[in-house]
Amino acid sequence: MHSDHKPHGGPDQEQDDPVLSRDGVFRPSPTGFRCGYVTIIGLPNVGKSTLLNTILGQKISIVTPKPQTTRHKLLGIYSTDSCQIVFLDTPGILKPKYLLHERMMDNVALAMDEADILLFMIDSTDSPTKSWVLQEPVIERIKGSKAPAFLLINKVDRVQKLDLLPMIGFYAEKKLFGEIFPISALKRDGVDNLLKSIVPVLPEHPPLYPLDVVSDHSERFLVSEIIREKVFLQCKEEIPYSTAVEIIEFKERETGKTFIAAEVYVERTSQRGILIGKKGAMLKRIGATARIEIEKFLGRPVFLEIQVKVREEWRQKKTWLDRLGYRGRG
Ligand code: GDP
Ligand code: MG
Repeated sequence: MHSDHKPHGGPDQEQDDPVLSRDGVFRPSPTGFRCGYVTIIGLPNVGKSTLLNTILGQKISIVTPKPQTTRHKLLGIYSTDSCQIVFLDTPGILKPKYLLHERMMDNVALAMDEADILLFMIDSTDSPTKSWVLQEPVIERIKGSKAPAFLLINKVDRVQKLDLLPMIGFYAEKKLFGEIFPISALKRDGVDNLLKSIVPVLPEHPPLYPLDVVSDHSERFLVSEIIREKVFLQCKEEIPYSTAVEIIEFKERETGKTFIAAEVYVERTSQRGILIGKKGAMLKRIGATARIEIEKFLGRPVFLEIQVKVREEWRQKKTWLDRLGYRGRG
């Protein structure tokens, strides 16, 4: 669409020249190759991470039934012989309550500024007016953005096709979206069609990343996210929201096992007790389920050690947020 606009990271060069990519590697640019940034936005829990995982065919972004599990702007990279789509997953939109939340929202704004296409996702089981009211600030941003926006109506496996019509009508009337896609991120319904529609909108540009890379996050980060996901799945109420996970050690051992030591931070001593559980039962469950998944992800045996530590008010403290990688604009 806006053909003058090139994805960030690559210098302005003739298409046939070798191009220095973000990773610092020179590679020839195939002609007609399309590449750009696609940002997925929407309320917590509508299925943004699920879509990313489905498209990439592996677990990059953690998925849980609780809202607000995604804190970082995540890159997932989908490549074929003729295109590369760099996805930015965002934390769900919310009203900032903590400094952590402000930084999360800064990241949503940044990811929207970078996008060549915006995918705005809603949940087909919500009423259209509910999502509209809650999301007004973001909708304003979509209006102000030069990138085209597609509407994704997700979880259509949970509704009757006919029941979708009022929702489609409501959003079509707003004239904000270039296209509307009813999809099921979980069942992959409509997802290939969506990908097909994204590609021609992307600028012609050589790949920004090697074609076999799916994420720019380290194994270390993804492992910490797997542990955080298990805390989310096992614990109730405010505990998951007060936790952060830091990988302290990540070492290959001669025995062939990878040794991973992680620290789980909570904000209060009482939360520490709950997270550890009676005779350590809760922490054991978290550790066991996390280890199984980490082994699957890394493809090798793992020895996982988890400690729970109290970091008072970490969500309000700049130094902790910086250290844990929750950076805002500033
Ligand atoms: P996010 O907060 O927007 O990233 O949402 P998630 O991807 O974490 O998904 C939230 C919940 O919705 C999870 O329990 C998913 O399994 C579920 N979910 C996501 N997509 C679908 C879908 O297409 N159909 C159904 N039935 N559930 C879905
Ligand atoms: Mg998510």
